[in-house]
Amino acid sequence: MEHSDPDRVDTPVTAGNRLTIDLAALARNWRALDALSGAAETAAAVKGNAYGIGVEPAVRALSAAGCRTFFVALPDEGVRMRAVSPEATIYVLNGLASDLASMHAANHLRPVIGSIGELKDWASYRAQGGTGEAALHVDTGMNRLGLTFAEARELAADKAAVDRLGLTLVMSHLACADTPDHPLNGRQLATMQDVRSLFPGLAVSLANTAGITLGNDYQFDLVRPGIGLYGGPYRVDRPALETVVTAQARIVQIRDVPAGETVGYGALATTRRQSRIAILSTGYADGYHRSAGSTDQRRGADTWLHGRRAPLFGRISMDLMAIDVTDIPEAERGDWVELFGASLPVAEVAEAAGTISYELLTSLGSRYQRHYIGGA
Ligand SMILES: *Cc1c(COP(=O)(O)O)cnc(C)c1O
Repeated sequence: MEHSDPDRVDTPVTAGNRLTIDLAALARNWRALDALSGAAETAAAVKGNAYGIGVEPAVRALSAAGCRTFFVALPDEGVRMRAVSPEATIYVLNGLASDLASMHAANHLRPVIGSIGELKDWASYRAQGGTGEAALHVDTGMNRLGLTFAEARELAADKAAVDRLGLTLVMSHLACADTPDHPLNGRQLATMQDVRSLFPGLAVSLANTAGITLGNDYQFDLVRPGIGLYGGPYRVDRPALETVVTAQARIVQIRDVPAGETVGYGALATTRRQSRIAILSTGYADGYHRSAGSTDQRRGADTWLHGRRAPLFGRISMDLMAIDVTDIPEAERGDWVELFGASLPVAEVAEAAGTISYELLTSLGSRYQRHYIGGA
């Protein structure tokens, strides 16, 4: 039975936690970013198991919304995606591992060539009659992947050699797009404009989610949003798009704990009053970061139930964690508690754990009961 309300999704009592993944919201987020992207094609980054939500359902929903081009990190991810999407254009961001050129071609995966070594391998593969297309990554300031501008200029000087590579895209990646005022953005943009003039006729791509919103200049021919699609925040000064993922855990039991006792490993959190402590069936083995726990000195993350916040209490265990429900008398055994989602932004919980939404989402473990709603 499908429901758009996470609180009404049926979950077997054998599961301790669940994810409700709203594929209709994912599709709406893609359309919203597409509408912001002017004439550029809107692709989707689906690496990291589509930021934790599941690559197969994500690709189906995004394809139904109109997305044709996808970016994964690894050839393995590309093969897995290819199985659900015979038609899609798939780029492999982490580049060309040696001897894998024909494997890419066999699966119609396009490696994103990111170094001179990869370029040589790809050129010799093509020179021996190898088929298939590729993208070229040029570094514009991130210093992670990509040919240097000087290397790109040297390559571009031999036009016949460029033509033999079967390139379909030249791309780069922004380091600070979530911070619009950062001076590196403008420098990367200017370098990318120079890269474009080196490779006339080739489609150009620079922008991730945040880059789309930096202005039309940044959009070039194709944009590659990721986090914004999944409902994560993409810019320091803007709200996120629609929530896609809601994570919840079940209350295993509620304990009455007298004032002055401690809860959990290390005895680091002391009750200051007669307390009701709810024990949730989730923990760091499920990807809920241990660093989000609380001590007497430090407030941890909040959770959400019965329309109110309940703070974590003490350290997070492998399979369990405690929250303070003293002020929520309705709380009872079997209730579902929101860890993050529509009521509690993923960004807030990530920050309480000292990390970012990207890491929290991609850490979501395999024990969650996954419910997909709003699918095409
Ligand atoms: C992950 C990634 C993206 C998507 O970035 P978001 O910030 O999630 O929108 C785009 N391009 C490259 C090269 C990436 O690695």
